[in-house]
Amino acid sequence: MDPIVVVGGGLAAARATETLREQGYDGDLVVVAAEAEVPYERPPLSKDYLRGEAGRDTLTPLDAGWYADHGVDLRTATTALALDVAGRTVDTAPGGTLRYSRLLLATGSRVRRLDVPGADHDGVHHLRSVADADRLAAALAEDGPVVVVGDGWIGMEVAASARQLGRDVTVVGREAHPLGVLGAEAAAIFTGVHTEHGVRLLHGRSVVEVLGDGHATGVRLDDGTTLDAVTVVVGIGVTPETELASQAGIELVPGSAGGGLAVEGTLRTSAPDVWAAGDIAAVPSLRYGRLLRFEHWATADETSRHAARAILGESAPYDVLPYFYSDQLDLGMEAKGLTEGEVVVSGSVADRECVLFWVDGGRVQGAMGINVWDRMDDAEELIRATGPVDRAALEAFAA
Ligand code: NAP
Repeated sequence: MDPIVVVGGGLAAARATETLREQGYDGDLVVVAAEAEVPYERPPLSKDYLRGEAGRDTLTPLDAGWYADHGVDLRTATTALALDVAGRTVDTAPGGTLRYSRLLLATGSRVRRLDVPGADHDGVHHLRSVADADRLAAALAEDGPVVVVGDGWIGMEVAASARQLGRDVTVVGREAHPLGVLGAEAAAIFTGVHTEHGVRLLHGRSVVEVLGDGHATGVRLDDGTTLDAVTVVVGIGVTPETELASQAGIELVPGSAGGGLAVEGTLRTSAPDVWAAGDIAAVPSLRYGRLLRFEHWATADETSRHAARAILGESAPYDVLPYFYSDQLDLGMEAKGLTEGEVVVSGSVADRECVLFWVDGGRVQGAMGINVWDRMDDAEELIRATGPVDRAALEAFAA
C-alpha cells in the first residue's frame, strides 16, 4: 500500500506521526516538511527560547532519532508543490511525485508582512520560525530601543521578553487596547503588567514607515510622530497556508478567503482520504455549534492526534474545547473556550490572581485563569453545562 503522507513541519505533523505509530500503524509513513528542521513547536520562540533560557532541544517534541527508530521517512527541506487528490499524489521538491494512500495536511500559517516603506530594512523582524527567533535573539542582545508593531500575542510576548532582556520597548497597536480578542476588561490586566514593567504601549496608532537607510533607525506613526528603534518586530497576524489544498479543489470555509479548510468532525476534508489539522482546519465545534479555527499550540496538538486516529478508522467527532496560554513578565495565563460575552470576575484583578468568565446567551462561553492554575478542567464543566448560569458560583470560583 502507498504510504500515509503528512505535509507539515510543526507540532501537528509531529503529534500526528507519533499518534499513527502509537495506534499501531506500522506501514510506510512519510513526513514532508518545508523547513530544514525536525518538526518543532513554536510557543518558546517568543518566550524562554527567545530569551536564551531554553535550548533548541526543548523545541522538538520528537527528536530526529525518534523518526529513524520508528521507521518514519522524514523529508525536511522539502516543499509540497502540488496536490492531485484524484491521482492521490503530492509533487515535492526535491523528491518529485509521491503517492499516498491517505494524506494529512498540517501546513500551518505564514506571517503577514508589514507593507509600508522601509519594511525591508535590516533590523525589521518577523517571528515565525526558529531561524527568525535566532536572528531576533541576536538583535535583542544589542543595546538600543525596540519597537513592536502589533499588540496581539506575538507582539505582547516579544515585548515582554525584550523588556526582560533589558531593552527599551514600545508597542504600537492600532486598536484601543492590546490582545483584541480578549475584550477591554481582560486586556486591561495585560496592559497593567506591561506598563508596570516599563513597556510603553501606544494604542490607536499605525506605523506608516520604517525609517532608516538600509538599516532601521525608527518608525513613523500615522499621527506624524517618530520613534527611535534599532530593532523593529512585526507581529500583525498570520495567514493559514491553504494554497496546496485550495489549488487541489478542497473546500475552504465559504465566503472567507484564508479562512481555512472546512473539515468534518473527524478532521476529514472534502477530498477523499485527505485530512487536515492545526491552523488550517476549521473544525465543527459540538459545544459552540459552528466552525472554529484556531492558530494556537493546543489546537495543533489535539486536532493532529484526532486526525491520526480518524485516518486509522475512528469516527468520533472532535470535541475538544479551544485552549491557549501565555506567559508575559510576571503574568501567567491559561484559557479555555471562547472569550465572547459579558465578563464575570472571580478573585482579585488588582492582585492579578483571578479567573475571568465570559457569559453569553445564558451559558458560560469561556474562562481564563490569571496566575491561577489547574482550574481549567473545573472551568470546562461550567462551559459545557447547559443549565442556567449561577453567577454567585462563578464569582466564588477562584476564592
Ligand atoms: P494575532 O494575535 O492575531 O495579533 C495580530 C495583531 O496585529 C492584531 O492585534 C491585529 O489587529 C494587528 N494587526 C493586523 N494587521 C496590522 C497592521 N497592518 N498594522 C498593525 N497591526 C496590525 O497575531 P500574532 O500576534 O502575529 O500571532 C500570530 C499567530 O500566533 C496568531 O494566530 C496567534 O494566536 C498565535 N500566537 C499565539 C500565542 C499564544 O497562544 N500564547 C502566542 C504567540 C502567537 P486587529 O485586531 O485590528 O486586526
